[in-house]
Amino acid sequence: MVPDSIPECQFQYAGGRHCRRIPKRGAAFCRDHRRIVRALPAPASGSSRDPRPARHEHALLRLGGLGLDQLVLEISRSLQALEPLVRGSASSEEFFRYQSARTAAEFAIDRVASLPHSLRRVMRNLHPDHFAMICRLLMYAGPNSASL
Ligand SMILES: [Zn+2]
Repeated sequence: MVPDSIPECQFQYAGGRHCRRIPKRGAAFCRDHRRIVRALPAPASGSSRDPRPARHEHALLRLGGLGLDQLVLEISRSLQALEPLVRGSASSEEFFRYQSARTAAEFAIDRVASLPHSLRRVMRNLHPDHFAMICRLLMYAGPNSASL
């Protein structure tokens, strides 16, 4: 638990949970979320805002809050949604690359799903709190996740 006097990242995940990483002194967001917030389009004034940036913004925020298990499912679902386009217009090489991506996503889903079971097998005596922390690290670890 981080004491109240230490500022935490202000990023809020889609589910309402806040990121609890500690940003650099004076920064509002941790390194990972600074990158996401920077990628967001600048707020537009008035009501004639193009809905596409809002959709992109929503997707960035939603994806930034997902664990690895949900991210690999998202990749698989997005690839599946593109299949009619690929089937209709891709060259054989492009279709081969597309199928490889779908297969890789399926392998990734299987491996991510097996991580907790594999961990349980090799670390049978691990305290449940430690087990939960390791699983959380496996699902949410990023380049700057030492404070998870
Ligand atoms: Zn953060």
